[in-house]
Amino acid sequence: MEAAAPDLIRAIIGFRQWRLRDGGLWSLHANERWLRGLQTARCLGEDAHEAPQNECTCGYYAWYAPPPRTASAATPDLVGGAVALWGHVELHAHGMRAQHAMVVALALPFSRGAKRERLLAIARDIEVPAVPARKIKAVALEHGDLIPRRMRPPDTTPNKRAAPGEPAPARLYAVADGLVQRR
Ligand SMILES: [Zn+2]
Repeated sequence: MEAAAPDLIRAIIGFRQWRLRDGGLWSLHANERWLRGLQTARCLGEDAHEAPQNECTCGYYAWYAPPPRTASAATPDLVGGAVALWGHVELHAHGMRAQHAMVVALALPFSRGAKRERLLAIARDIEVPAVPARKIKAVALEHGDLIPRRMRPPDTTPNKRAAPGEPAPARLYAVADGLVQRR
C-alpha cells in the first residue's frame, strides 16, 4: 500500500452504544469487550486483513453524532458514549468504521438506579469520565475533532439509522494520524 499523507492530524470523534454485561462494556453486534485505552480492530473474515477494509464489515463503528438520548435510556443495559478513532477510517453517510478506537466518555443514564452504579464502576475501571448525555460531545472534543460535513459521503439510503456496514459506492477514506495523549 502506498504511503499517504494523513487527511486529519487529530483523532476523529465518534459516538456509539455499548451493552453493560459482566461488569464491562461490550459491543452490540460483536462479542467484544471494550477495555481501558487503545483497541485495534481485527478482521474475523475468511481472509483476514487490516481492519477496516472495503467490502468487509470489520473495524470499530461509530456515528458522527450522538444517537437520540432516548435510544438507550429506556433499556436496562444499553449505554451511550464517545470514542476517539484513528488509523484507517472508512467514512459512510452517517458513521464510520475505524482501525483504532478508544472510549473517551460515557453518558450517565437519566435514572439513579443500578444501571447508573454499574456504569460508574465501569467508567472508573477504564478511566474515562461519566458525564450527562448533553455534555458528551464537549468532553469528547477534548480528544479530537468531528468529521467535517464536506468529507462525509452523501446519504443514498432511505434508512437514516442503518448501521454503517455495507460500503456505499460513494465511499471515501480518511486517515487520522494520532490521538491527543491523556494527561
Ligand atoms: Zn475485514
